[in-house]
Amino acid sequence: MEALHKKIREEGVVLSDQVLKVDAFLNHQIDPALMKLIGDEFAALFKDSGITKIVTIEASGIAPAIMTGLNLGVPVIFARKQQSLTLTENLLSATVYSFTKKVESTVAISPRHLTSSDRVLIIDDFLANGKASQALISIIKQAGATVAGLGIVIEKSFQGGRAELDAQGYRVESLARVKSLSGGVVTFIE
Ligand code: 5GP
Repeated sequence: MEALHKKIREEGVVLSDQVLKVDAFLNHQIDPALMKLIGDEFAALFKDSGITKIVTIEASGIAPAIMTGLNLGVPVIFARKQQSLTLTENLLSATVYSFTKKVESTVAISPRHLTSSDRVLIIDDFLANGKASQALISIIKQAGATVAGLGIVIEKSFQGGRAELDAQGYRVESLARVKSLSGGVVTFIE
């Protein structure tokens, strides 16, 4: 997606060979016009997949997920990282090791929002080693629902997450596929 590539080239900051900082437009300050384009793109890619729900993780997945949900006309659920006082029922949960924070946390969704008849599109800001995606897949399976595919804003293809999801047979659509961050330069798979 050219507008996203351009934004990453112009405003992304390569923090190391492994980490790309995009807090100017995706996960701190948010560019709504770019999020709309991202939502349009995911909706076009998955419009014939019978999606009934979108699932993401708070907080950075919410902006692209909501624009996609608006476009597809389906609700958006975000897995919560902290158990809120109002979420007292039995939760569907999974542990996820955070690539950027280097800590393990539990993410959870209320079973009231997912049923076995749901066909779910997972949306997330980044795909690195795939831990966040695998945790969401586990939660969706616990609900008996179907994972119809994954929409990723930025995939770091040099890490293992994509290959694992491919091997498991999931459809993964990434709007930017980063081949390398070596030498402080972002190179894309075009
Ligand atoms: P994974 O679980 O696939 O290893 O990592 C995905 C999660 O880690 C994403 O939800 C994202 O929040 C975070 N993440 C992974 N790599 C990066 C990165 O290079 N930059 C930023 N800003 N976040 C990342």
